[in-house]
Amino acid sequence: MHEVSIALGMVDELMKIAQKNNAKKIINVKLKIGKMSGIVTDSLKFAFDAIKLEYPLLSTSEIFIEEVPLVYECNDCNNLFKTNDIYFPSCPECKSYNLKLKSGEEQYIENVEVEV
Ligand SMILES: [Zn+2]
Repeated sequence: MHEVSIALGMVDELMKIAQKNNAKKIINVKLKIGKMSGIVTDSLKFAFDAIKLEYPLLSTSEIFIEEVPLVYECNDCNNLFKTNDIYFPSCPECKSYNLKLKSGEEQYIENVEVEV
């Protein structure tokens, strides 16, 4: 499962953050995950909840995931629109396929709350 390796990478990152802040505990973690990233957020949460038990610093931390929708800008009519269509999106105004991806590829830790 792809999400397990992502969760492991995230744990690595969180341990570094904890160390840098001399944290006793990580209380919660906010993630931003774009629809285009291909990550199944439920699976990621599940993987994280399993892995965190092996880390005392993380064992009680909660994870919050904000899913970022796909937003495209049409190069032909400048229309900005959201879509769930990952593969063949087209502009709802002019039906063009000439689009620019504006957001939806996000995959990062937005915020970490620690106890020091
Ligand atoms: Zn258009």
